[in-house]
Amino acid sequence: MTLRKQHVIDPEICIRCNTCEETCPVGAVTHDDNNYVVDPEKCNFCMDCIYPCPTGAIDNWRMVERYYTLEEQFSWLELPPETVPQAGAAVAGEAGDEEAERLIAEAHAATGGRPVAPRLAPQPVVGLYGRAAPAIARVAGNYRVTAADSDNDVRHIVLDFGTTPMPLVEGQTLGIVPPGEDAEGRPHAIRLYSVSSPRDGEKRDSPHLVALTVKRVVVRQPDGQVHRGLCSNWLCDLERGAEVQVVGPFGSTFLLTDDPEADILMICTGTGSAPFRAFTERRRRTMRHAPGRLYLFFGARTPSELPYFGPLQKVPRDLLHQELVYSRLSERPREYVQDRMRARAELLAELLRRPRTHVYVCGVRGMEQGVDEAFAAITRAHGLGPWEALRGRLVEEGRYHVETW
Ligand SMILES: Cc1cc2nc3c(=O)[nH]c(=O)nc-3n(C[C@H](O)[C@H](O)[C@H](O)COP(=O)(O)OP(=O)(O)OC[C@H]3O[C@@H](n4cnc5c(N)ncnc54)[C@H](O)[C@@H]3O)c2cc1C
Ligand code: SF4
Ligand code: SF4
Repeated sequence: MTLRKQHVIDPEICIRCNTCEETCPVGAVTHDDNNYVVDPEKCNFCMDCIYPCPTGAIDNWRMVERYYTLEEQFSWLELPPETVPQAGAAVAGEAGDEEAERLIAEAHAATGGRPVAPRLAPQPVVGLYGRAAPAIARVAGNYRVTAADSDNDVRHIVLDFGTTPMPLVEGQTLGIVPPGEDAEGRPHAIRLYSVSSPRDGEKRDSPHLVALTVKRVVVRQPDGQVHRGLCSNWLCDLERGAEVQVVGPFGSTFLLTDDPEADILMICTGTGSAPFRAFTERRRRTMRHAPGRLYLFFGARTPSELPYFGPLQKVPRDLLHQELVYSRLSERPREYVQDRMRARAELLAELLRRPRTHVYVCGVRGMEQGVDEAFAAITRAHGLGPWEALRGRLVEEGRYHVETW
């Protein structure tokens, strides 16, 4: 049985305000005298209609063997009941989802194990594709986003899902199924990668084009042996047109708030910049002059090892305040993200005081410790009370998010 996800509108809640029809970039929403409905043949799950809807009526989904037709939807007085359990398990191999859930839970552990999604974020689709029926994408582009002469090979890889729906919102991850089997003859474990393009795709109105930012993992051991990460090396070597099996989407809390008044503080190292590229692009495309601003603290060893160094130089400073921090510049003392945070204590204390600031930390496992220590020093020095208590409140309010691996 093949199940597909269908976007539907709850006729009991909908106030027929027409906002979704005006918002939808592909004309998928239509109406008659009775109901507003979504055409399943046109909807590409870009999610643009979700936030503007004043009632939440638009944020409804059904797993179906056969799409409800427009005529059926026009006749509804209420939504039909769910006939299958929620998405992931029914469509997908449970194994893929469990692995992903465990990896995500570990990555979010620094929020005390109880991460909360931002209040104003769309309800994401999770677990649409699993191992049993992965989505098939083709590589549409694969290019390096660190300098050619640096030791850090990070790639911007664009996957083309064609007509296969891949609904995503900023901050979610996808699982990649590496081909082949391990030494015991079992399929390889999936690897998660943060999506670095916004919900409407790598280019405007192209939700079928999804970007990942992948670091080629190469570990040199003291005895001279070299371990090449299985999945990252496979991905980084893929040519245009190569086929990739994808599971997901995953992640329901590390999400960009849709609140235009929210200041967004993004703290990252290395490929932790992936979701922040998506956040920045989303704001640039849809809320260029939002009252809330974006702040980026981004650490790398050198500019040539910093992913997207070139493109970042072109991002307008009034859209994105940038603090690029380097730990291996020959002419300067080593500086890490937490050092720069301390140096910008006034700014960060002011951001923490504002009731709508959201903080996101993403990157290498362990970086959250230095970030925590810097915040603790800043809150102490600026009369904001103990950092642990403030962090706890921010987590509960869905305003403090950590994803490290
Ligand atoms: C929520 C989440 C989001 C993520 N987002 C991104 C992202 O956006 N971009 C990104 O690049 N990565 C991301 N990752 C990491 C990614 O999922 C993979 O873990 C990473 O690419 C390494 O996978 P691999 O198969 O290449 O390496 P693996 O083969 O799995 O090796 C991983 C590590 O295991 C160790 N290891 C394993 N075998 C050996 C051996 N024989 N000898 C020595 N050491 C060994 C090494 O330390 C190595 O670094 C994310 C992870 C999570 C959990
Ligand atoms: S998800 Fe996107 S394509 Fe579908 S109805 Fe909403 S705006 Fe239109
Ligand atoms: S925006 Fe929401 S309330 Fe308004 S017509 Fe669409 S579904 Fe109904």
